Amino acid sequence: MAIIGIDLGTTYSLACVYRNGRAELIPNELGDYKTNSVVSMMEDGSVLVGAAAKERLITHPESTAASFKVWMGTERMISLGKKSFKPEELSSLVLKQILQDARQYLGEPVDEAVISVPAYFNDNQRCATKLAAQLAGLTVKRLINEPSAAALYYRHSMQEQGDSQMMVIDFGGGTLDVSIVECFENIIEITAIAGDNHLGGNDIDCAIVAYFCGQNGLTMEKLDAFALSSLYRQAEEAKIALSQGDMDTRVSVVLVQDDNKYSVTLTNTLLRQLCEPIFCKVRAVISRAMKDRARAGRINEVILVGGSAQLTVFCDYLEELFGRRPAVHGNTDEMVALGVGLCAGIKERAEELQDLVMTDVCPFSLGVATYNDARDNNPHMAFLIQRSSMLPASHQDNFYTLSNNQQKLRFEIFQGEGYYAKDNLKLGELEVRVPPGMAGQQYATVTFTYDIDGILHVSARSSGGDYRERMILNSRFQPGDMALRQAHERISQIQLAARGNQEDQLLLETAMRLYAQMTGIMREQVAKLIQYFEWNRESGDLIQREKSRREMRKQLAAIEIYLYADPLDLDFWADDEEDREDDE
Ligand code: ADP
Ligand code: MG
Repeated sequence: MAIIGIDLGTTYSLACVYRNGRAELIPNELGDYKTNSVVSMMEDGSVLVGAAAKERLITHPESTAASFKVWMGTERMISLGKKSFKPEELSSLVLKQILQDARQYLGEPVDEAVISVPAYFNDNQRCATKLAAQLAGLTVKRLINEPSAAALYYRHSMQEQGDSQMMVIDFGGGTLDVSIVECFENIIEITAIAGDNHLGGNDIDCAIVAYFCGQNGLTMEKLDAFALSSLYRQAEEAKIALSQGDMDTRVSVVLVQDDNKYSVTLTNTLLRQLCEPIFCKVRAVISRAMKDRARAGRINEVILVGGSAQLTVFCDYLEELFGRRPAVHGNTDEMVALGVGLCAGIKERAEELQDLVMTDVCPFSLGVATYNDARDNNPHMAFLIQRSSMLPASHQDNFYTLSNNQQKLRFEIFQGEGYYAKDNLKLGELEVRVPPGMAGQQYATVTFTYDIDGILHVSARSSGGDYRERMILNSRFQPGDMALRQAHERISQIQLAARGNQEDQLLLETAMRLYAQMTGIMREQVAKLIQYFEWNRESGDLIQREKSRREMRKQLAAIEIYLYADPLDLDFWADDEEDREDDE
């Protein structure tokens, strides 16, 4: 039974397996390695995951959810039609889809996985990820930090392996992670991690939409869900088109509402201006990673990872910052998944990977609240594990009673860098009984162990011998908990769309999205396409159906190009080349 590696991304999720001596990406039913992390609830209560679901962000925004990874580890509920879900529940649906595709592709049962998380994910977010896997029926063999996975893959695939210090910048849809990695022979050591869990390509789309509204005198908050998702989608496509074009490329974003047509035309120069505030935040994160690393010394290489790292204006920005253009190796958006696949291979004890060693560090400091005296009501932090400590890390400290005959010592556990406990994220509490005595006489020894998955175990032993320990899991969910069982029940009842018609579903959803976005003659044309396609699907034979799929794909692609083109870039004069060709 294979262990698979899963890159559970904000925008896309990928699966990878280690076999025949290499990490191999697993295609989904559509033949793509990337599955959109988008979930949509259908009218019949089944759930669509992936590209077809993404189309429904525009046609059915109320019953479709995307980018929910940014809410992992929070109490936020996300509604899909009449039901609402926790972020980890939506993630579990994505995992279910990935798993279904992997089982199909590999032709064997799969129920164990290595899953990657942003290095900068805190304890709640990591626990929520483990929970998502659990709800999907997966056992997590390990959580690995995304940039570490990328570094592992990069290093493993390099021919010559001299000692080097690299910086991995993972700029995805919703998160930024920057890691410093030292490589020495077969040892890969992560020495510093910095990041921002709310910074990514989505913010660029958002900046474009905000600019669009500003230029057209529209208020973002007043736009309906359909208009907004259509704008976000166009913004993303425009951004990608610009990074695939050159300095002269012009792309439009258009919105038709109440007979008014609003538009803006974007260029790379303008995009760069819109991105400036976002890039400033990126710079701050890079600089923090540099300051935190264990050893000084120059960086030999900057490795770009993540979809947003393909942005031309981003690479330009980094070139100005570093004085050298960072090299892009392979597909930036597949690197993490390949690394997670390698990691799965290590877990399976693949022969060739045996001498590969990777160490990681803790992204946040961990400690307990400590009081100056019995009247102190604004405790500060006593850190037991400092950020950037190598994993697994373990440390202990003694804490004494503050008043005479105090009966117990209570420890509140926090994660973060703030001086005062209240400024940090509370992870849990632990209490031990102490024997009677004078203030400062009795004490408890608290031990923190941060494991290789980046999950914290805390224990306390009092001078009276009372011993308590606890794995800091998301306090909402303890294993065996009723709520967990109920969530499991709920998720296992949800059916994923049946295999074998994903492609048809995608074509139909795309057509319906274009129908919603278009007006006039184009709209009628899309309607005809839909009718023809559905008719063939019901009554055509296999060949007929395949032909109609091909035709549909071609027609939709052409309409799509028309939709996103700058009207002035389209053939303008009546006597253009095509007409002439026709005349010949
Ligand atoms: P995740 O956040 O799931 O890890 P990725 O690393 O694949 O996802 O990054 C997704 C982001 O990359 C999205 O915001 C997407 O718009 C952006 N993106 C994808 N391809 C390109 C491209 N060619 N140019 C610019 N941005 C891109
Ligand atoms: Mg990613």
